[in-house]
Amino acid sequence: MIWDAIIVGAGAAGLFCAGIAGQLGKKVLVLDHASVLGEKIRISGGGRCNFTNLHSAAHHFLSLNPHFVKSPLARYSSKDFINLVKQYRIPFHEKHQGQLFCDESAKDIIQMLLSECQQGGVRIQNPVTISQIISSNGLWELETNQGSHKTQKLVIATGGLPVPAIGASDYALNLAKQFDIPVTAVRPALVPLSFTSGEFLPMSDLSGISIPVTIASGQRGKRYGACQFDEDLLLTHKGLSGPAVLQASSYWTEGETLKINWLGKRDDEAVFLGPDTNTRSADSLLADLLPQRFAKLIAEQFDMGKRHWAEISKKDRECLMNYLKHSEVKPAGTLGWKKAEVMLGGVDTNALDGKTMMSKQHPNLFFIGECVDVTGHLGGHNFQWAWSSAYVCAQAINQS
Ligand SMILES: Cc1cc2nc3c(=O)[nH]c(=O)nc-3n(C[C@H](O)[C@H](O)[C@H](O)COP(=O)(O)OP(=O)(O)OC[C@H]3O[C@@H](n4cnc5c(N)ncnc54)[C@H](O)[C@@H]3O)c2cc1C
Repeated sequence: MIWDAIIVGAGAAGLFCAGIAGQLGKKVLVLDHASVLGEKIRISGGGRCNFTNLHSAAHHFLSLNPHFVKSPLARYSSKDFINLVKQYRIPFHEKHQGQLFCDESAKDIIQMLLSECQQGGVRIQNPVTISQIISSNGLWELETNQGSHKTQKLVIATGGLPVPAIGASDYALNLAKQFDIPVTAVRPALVPLSFTSGEFLPMSDLSGISIPVTIASGQRGKRYGACQFDEDLLLTHKGLSGPAVLQASSYWTEGETLKINWLGKRDDEAVFLGPDTNTRSADSLLADLLPQRFAKLIAEQFDMGKRHWAEISKKDRECLMNYLKHSEVKPAGTLGWKKAEVMLGGVDTNALDGKTMMSKQHPNLFFIGECVDVTGHLGGHNFQWAWSSAYVCAQAINQS
């Protein structure tokens, strides 16, 4: 038997693509090396899966070609996926800046994808190990530990490198290289950052404190450009985490500094000009804007402690404000693939057709989802990319 399409990887993108192509009447086989399917979906969003974002648009993605996402997102938007979720009566809620989460469990999304596959008559085989893929006489031939398969179309949806413990692999990158398809350098993204410098040492005692900040990272004109986010920063034993730092990590490269305004949107100097200001201590004034333990540490670092604000010289006040608004910290590194949510980089978008996700060099070979050099901001954009890229690919499978 010759399959219309074989999809390697039964994660978010692979299952979604299979369900659509199957329901369009195509004979689809999905192969996955994991014994349990959809594990990344299950652990996503703290078990509630932030499955899309109401505002998902091109500016929420990093890619060497920032325009690449536009066509897939336009053809299958977050609205389309929300309609599907509603069709399945999966209860969900908006959490923050358009982020949509399941009310109950991420397993609802896995069940929905499996049910879509079932309706399309899709065959799923797992766990299976693929030993070889070759192109022969206009077909793709796959050798596995459970026999060989032939297919017209081959879709690679094996995701990225984060969380190797649940089956992440560099399969897509190696396969692309096997077929001379360019791959951009990859690194962990949406990942906590670690510090070794003495500068950060006093902060390590404040582990667990969350502070709304404005954070900036990256450099204009460099590979993925620069960013600025207003989000919460979390102090941890190992360094910095929380949404602000995860977002900034995608733009950060080793050796660079992060710029932090610890006052964030509360950048309100009125606190320092109030009627009772002069008789209050520096740490109590700071505690109006910052978590108390953090305020105390900063006041101590600036040798202000319990001194009344009136006793502090103009120069020292300026130094303090400069620190609060323009801190620069230099991370030592990231916490790596084990803690990253997503892979930055991947199969070069210049080698793919954005209308179909097909390789420009190899007809009928497709790459979708995280293995492609398209990385979303935190907040449901990465799943939206999985759905959008899978949708356009499924339509292309149906067309020829
Ligand atoms: C902890 C965590 C939380 C996250 N939370 C969110 C969130 O809330 N919202 C969001 O938008 N994104 C989130 N993400 C990112 C999101 O999970 C991914 O972007 C998304 O799953 C990518 O979909 P994919 O189908 O490309 O890859 P995956 O979903 O990773 O699927 C890849 C599949 O390929 C299989 N595979 C790998 N190698 C092989 C091989 N050699 N042979 C056969 N099969 C193989 C794997 O077993 C897996 O089933 C999170 C990620 C992590 C790690």
